[in-house]
Amino acid sequence: MMKRRIYALFLAMVLIISFCGCSEEENEHEEIISGGEIILEPVESSSSSSSEPEIPTGTEPAWVPESSSESSSEEIAESSSASSSEAEEPEEKTDCSVLILVNPWNYIPEDYDVNLVNVQGKYNLDEKAAESAKELVAAARKAGFDMVLCSAYRTVEKSAELYSRKVNQFINAGYDEATAKIEAAKWVAPPGTSEHHTGLAMDLVSSDYWGYYSDLEHAYENFDSFKWLYEHCAEFGFILRYPKDKQDITGITYEPWHYRYVGKEAAQYIMENGLCLEEYLELIK
Ligand SMILES: [Zn+2]
Repeated sequence: MMKRRIYALFLAMVLIISFCGCSEEENEHEEIISGGEIILEPVESSSSSSSEPEIPTGTEPAWVPESSSESSSEEIAESSSASSSEAEEPEEKTDCSVLILVNPWNYIPEDYDVNLVNVQGKYNLDEKAAESAKELVAAARKAGFDMVLCSAYRTVEKSAELYSRKVNQFINAGYDEATAKIEAAKWVAPPGTSEHHTGLAMDLVSSDYWGYYSDLEHAYENFDSFKWLYEHCAEFGFILRYPKDKQDITGITYEPWHYRYVGKEAAQYIMENGLCLEEYLELIK
């Protein structure tokens, strides 16, 4: 019975995927970024748990707000057909472009476009995620949590800037260039590998967090707002993108503040089953 249900679910997913032509989203574009070598464990944000005694202080943390103003408008190929022949689940308008995989091994496609919509302050997300993000923030507020974004859409150029600044810090601290690049990648995702390029990811914590910390740290998991986010993010199509127990798969250390929009259906499956996006994509392949 259960098996049949799972099989039907997979079948439905396969149908949806093939229908939307997602596969092209998952192409690797490793050649885009010059100087981007294989990084084993890049971390796109700084964290207290890393042991890097020589890291120069007083520098811009990885999450530092960036001005994101460039937006390119283009039509989003949205498959609005609600064809569900044998799918058990209610057909939901599934745009599988929101399942794009960007990680240390999968660069953002060179021609990837976003259509930015303001979410909060100066932070923008792609139109596919922006409204859901606003709804999430509003729901959190109702629950008593004042959620503050500290990063959202980020250009490849901005990442390049943050990354090279970090590389220089390591070089100035005495590292050779090759090692500096590797070390820097543990703090700032090399350009092209940050999920923030998709406009589908945001970093957020509750405002009370800043009363205790001045940087994004793993300790955020101890805040009630994190527990709320963890429990409710999927209702708005978001997932905790870098879970603590999936670091080997994601290539990114645990980030309790980083949430990624994947659509409600995928989000609920991922969060309910304790998966990371890489595992989910493997599953529905
Ligand atoms: Zn992030």
